[in-house]
Amino acid sequence: MFFRQLFHRESSTYTYILADSTWRDAVVIDAVSDATDEVLAILREQDLHLTHILETHLHADHISAARKLREATGAQVVLSDQAGADCADLQVSDGDFVVLGDDVIRILTTPGHTPESLSFRWHDRVFTGDALLIGGCGRTDFQGGNAGTLYDSITEKLFTLPEETLLYPGHDYKGRMVSCIGEEKQMNPRLADKSRDEFIEIMRNLDLPKPKMIDVAVPSNRLCGTAN
Ligand code: FE
Repeated sequence: MFFRQLFHRESSTYTYILADSTWRDAVVIDAVSDATDEVLAILREQDLHLTHILETHLHADHISAARKLREATGAQVVLSDQAGADCADLQVSDGDFVVLGDDVIRILTTPGHTPESLSFRWHDRVFTGDALLIGGCGRTDFQGGNAGTLYDSITEKLFTLPEETLLYPGHDYKGRMVSCIGEEKQMNPRLADKSRDEFIEIMRNLDLPKPKMIDVAVPSNRLCGTAN
């Protein structure tokens, strides 16, 4: 197995490349447009064939590299069937999977940050996008977000995975790269020992500024990002 975690400094976004070493097939999760060449260079260096471009959701803070990577490699773009994104080659829902070499990547629907938010489970790890972050979670105050729905996604889906499951988030703003489900259950200040109502109250009082790129990024990402 091959695994690489990339970081986009301007938006604090993590991108992941997963591959099967035997078949040389690869997928990329949440690739950022600015880093298209970096992803293509890694694929070339490692002699990997990109089969799927997975998006956890329609990002509000960066432009996706999906369209550019599809043009360069012929890989299929995978988005939730709730995204309203006709550009996607595969529109997936809960329980669907993507084949990677001899294994599969399981699709979990984890709405709440946005209605179309997905998490991807592969081997011993889960990629949660902005549903569950290390010591936090995605905001729920725009783009169709719903705090109660997010609480249900986290507690009923993500927190029922084995505690040792490695958690790779869509962002981190403090340099943390990985956590695990057990640690978040015990330590995440928004969720540990918090009721659904307490969580909704916490989310209601976050008072965050509007993301700088939202008016450009969301419409663009509904078209799988820009062509250049
Ligand atoms: Fe997001």
